[in-house]
Amino acid sequence: MYAKIDLLTNGMIENYPKSVYMDNIRVRHFKDLILASKVSEEAFNDVLTSVFDDLIDFEKTGFIKTTDELSFPDRQKLFYWQRINSKGSKFQITINCPRCEKDFDFTIDLLKIKENRLENKIKEKIVKDEENNLELRLGMPNRLDHIEMNKFIKNYKENVFQQIEKMLYVEDIELLENELKSKDFSSKKEMLTQFSGKKIVDDKGNFTEALNEFDKVSMDNINEKNKIKNKILELKEKVKSNKEEIKKILKKYFFDKSLQEVDTVDIKNSNDLKFDDYTDYMLTLGTCIKNKPKNYVEYIINLQYKVLNQVELYAQDIYHGFDSKVTFKCKECGHKFEDELLLTPSFFLS
Ligand SMILES: [Zn+2]
Repeated sequence: MYAKIDLLTNGMIENYPKSVYMDNIRVRHFKDLILASKVSEEAFNDVLTSVFDDLIDFEKTGFIKTTDELSFPDRQKLFYWQRINSKGSKFQITINCPRCEKDFDFTIDLLKIKENRLENKIKEKIVKDEENNLELRLGMPNRLDHIEMNKFIKNYKENVFQQIEKMLYVEDIELLENELKSKDFSSKKEMLTQFSGKKIVDDKGNFTEALNEFDKVSMDNINEKNKIKNKILELKEKVKSNKEEIKKILKKYFFDKSLQEVDTVDIKNSNDLKFDDYTDYMLTLGTCIKNKPKNYVEYIINLQYKVLNQVELYAQDIYHGFDSKVTFKCKECGHKFEDELLLTPSFFLS
């Protein structure tokens, strides 16, 4: 049976549905959602889209062809509605009291979470960024925009990572190591073989140990020895300046400060490059911006305040959603406190 569910956007957006006509969720849908939630939030949202798209009567609903075109709070509203309709509105969680530090059970009632609906008509807005010769079209962000933005960020990080990767390897080191291994030194062959079997650079990118070792090696041909030693010193300088260069890159692109301090080898081993909080915050504004510049991340990092202010004002205008602040009362000590919960659909699965 199709039911009419009113959306939080409240009919205030042009060419966007005011209500959705939707069938009831099935047991197998919930099973699929639980499975996907164990993979990732993204996988969960993919399944949520396919479940919702299966249940919505798009002819009656109008304007959209997939729930990915709905705003995030509207998707949330549909999920809450289905959750309440099928399993009831109550949901139990365990909370840790900040005062007595004991755990207690708390029941969230989905019906009691405050809805903030749009009250004014929202129109797309053009913001001119004269300095960069750009026009930004601001609009209501949906999941499709979000997916696109994540692609930008992923590509950007990969590019920076590739730049760093290139600098982490000094090809000459490998060449020198191979040269040492293959060379037929006539005198003190044993010692040299011992040395040449070692890596010139240790796993942390240090040369010192290698140079000390090399100094111990006595060779009949002093010229040959000095030549190799100079080569090692030259490489040492190169690696040092590359490390500085990598620090500059990380600084320029607002990556986490802690990354700038760690050893370059650790960067190589880390799976993800983290932006600092400031950049993260700026990037979230990207979902309001519909036509994104090609080098979007770089643009948003260098965004002028004048443009930023306009984007922020627009973000305030289009704000709608559920109040995530919940007031708790500890069952052990009676302490009352407020906390923000991430009330995403996956939170309410069980
Ligand atoms: Zn307590």
